[in-house]
Amino acid sequence: MIDITFPDGSSRQFAAGVTPLEIAASISPRLAQETFAATVDGQSWDIQKPIETDATIKLHKWDEPEAKHAFWHSSSHLLAAALEQLYPGIKFGIGPAIDNGFYYDVDSPTPITEGDLPKIEQKMLEIAREKHPFVRREVSKAEAMETYTKKGDEYKCELIGDLTDGTITFYSNGDYTDLCRGPHLADTAPIKAVKLTSVAGAYWRGDEKRKMLTRIYGITFPKKALLDEYLALVEEAKKRDHRKLGKELELFTFSPRVGQGLPLWLPKGAALRERLENFLKGVQKQYGYEQVITPHIGMKDLYVTSGHYAKYGKDSFQPIHTPDENEEFLLKPMNCPHHCEIYRSKPRSYKDLPVRLAEFGTVYRYEMSGELHGLTRVRGFTQDDAHLFCRPDQLKDEFKKVIDIVLYIFKTLDFKEFTAQVSLRDPNNKEKYIGTDENWHKAEAAIMEAAAEKGLETIVETGEAAFYGPKLDFMVKDALGRKWQLGTIQVDYNLPERFDLTYKGSDDKEHRPIMIHRAPFGSMERFVAVLLEHTGGKFPLWLTPEQAVVLPISEKYNDYAKKVAKLLNNCDIRTRVDDRDEKIGRKIRDNELAKVPILLIVGDNEQRDETVTVRMQGEGKDRGTMTLPDFAKMVGDLVAEEIRPIAEPMS
Ligand SMILES: [Zn+2]
Ligand SMILES: [Zn+2]
Repeated sequence: MIDITFPDGSSRQFAAGVTPLEIAASISPRLAQETFAATVDGQSWDIQKPIETDATIKLHKWDEPEAKHAFWHSSSHLLAAALEQLYPGIKFGIGPAIDNGFYYDVDSPTPITEGDLPKIEQKMLEIAREKHPFVRREVSKAEAMETYTKKGDEYKCELIGDLTDGTITFYSNGDYTDLCRGPHLADTAPIKAVKLTSVAGAYWRGDEKRKMLTRIYGITFPKKALLDEYLALVEEAKKRDHRKLGKELELFTFSPRVGQGLPLWLPKGAALRERLENFLKGVQKQYGYEQVITPHIGMKDLYVTSGHYAKYGKDSFQPIHTPDENEEFLLKPMNCPHHCEIYRSKPRSYKDLPVRLAEFGTVYRYEMSGELHGLTRVRGFTQDDAHLFCRPDQLKDEFKKVIDIVLYIFKTLDFKEFTAQVSLRDPNNKEKYIGTDENWHKAEAAIMEAAAEKGLETIVETGEAAFYGPKLDFMVKDALGRKWQLGTIQVDYNLPERFDLTYKGSDDKEHRPIMIHRAPFGSMERFVAVLLEHTGGKFPLWLTPEQAVVLPISEKYNDYAKKVAKLLNNCDIRTRVDDRDEKIGRKIRDNELAKVPILLIVGDNEQRDETVTVRMQGEGKDRGTMTLPDFAKMVGDLVAEEIRPIAEPMS
């Protein structure tokens, strides 16, 4: 008998050779049905693979990434099995699970196009229903090589060539056998819904000098309803694509003449961004930040000193040279070196600390053109950056205040779900990191305590810290349940060292300050993209480019409409007139589609009484008639409701 220990610490005895699936079945038949993967002694494990010794076990159901991974990975084998039946002689590259589904790279004797996908899906479902078990078999390298040489699959042969003898396994499902490490489902039956999503070209091993294979992407589910849900989400995501919305709402554009990955902010987008910046500036001011401004370029030597040249230098934009003086400049990849020089601009005493320098600083990083994507992957972007220089005894408190700012922003912008990840150093690999043991212990403890005291739920990742210090990253979940990495807070012992930053302590000796890098939005570009996809373009009232539009019911009232707009704009309510020669019904529809939050309808009565009839976006009926001062007060109240004051402003 062996002892199997469960995540809650309880343990039970089983006969040696028991499988995770049998263990699940011993708890309940339903659990066995819902278990798609297992972790045994910390290692991913086939649910049908025997366990021979005492072990800890974790069973994974669909909502866990481990389960999805095994499910989708098994599905890629199912896809290959279907392809082999439909396209005899087809050769296979690799077929991994990915974040949302799986793919297989294939070299087919007859081309496979999108039009073929339904037929392949049908075949996959047919094979899945036959309930073929995934059978694992260990093979020698020679045998593996012989199998694929006989089959004439040079891709698998190449993969086997890279493997070490004694570690190679084959998995078969029905007639199809694949070279694979696993883990897989017990059999193909749980795969109940299949969608092959696209076909693309992919170079073998990502090498553009080698053959272009056909990559077939797909996703599968244990229930048809889950697939339907997923497809609806994909449709909604398409509608909310920030590139599409950014164009429709006239927020930003790109010009090939200006250059790829260099966004041009249009008037409405610039105004929106300015409001976001002012909002954050206001919050930061209450927390004792000081704004600074630094240039877009700096001497190469600055970035050699900071270490950024070593990191970004040759893979980034190339140096700029001056004609006569032989100077060498780089586009700024980071604001930190500039801020270090500002810190150094005068002697600092322990009483001056913390120094909090903030800048909406634009930085440039070269990204390959194929990697660029709307506002989320660009070559020039503006960070909502700040650098805090503090004493070791201030670190935890400063960290807590930064968490406060980040949480306040998320709350104000209606991101209700988020996770925080603490990244610590790998204690077995200390030489990878700079800074003393003592400092690392203190900094890691400060972050963990700050996060705990602020009630943050955190995931701790050991070995994920930057080489210069531990960090805390925030991921938000948007309205469609997708995760985006946003703000980050990082402790840094490296730059103060490299720039020889000091302060005079109460002991009259020079000490090193600790630096904190932090950017709650990450970058303005990325944040606006996330906000667009999160809200579908329906921004909160305080932020939205146009708060109200005045709709005269006929041209007779155009002058009154213009007067209303002027008065409201004077009270800082962003208002436009829709004086197109269209029927009022059409104007209402168009402006609702354009997501303007408030429609103001004016006609005879309104003109006579100096009022407006108010209709809120999405309410479908009028709120009644109001005088302009009453309307302005209502807007003021709605905005105040959205931007609540900070709970405890601090110095
Ligand atoms: Zn596999
Ligand atoms: Zn920085």
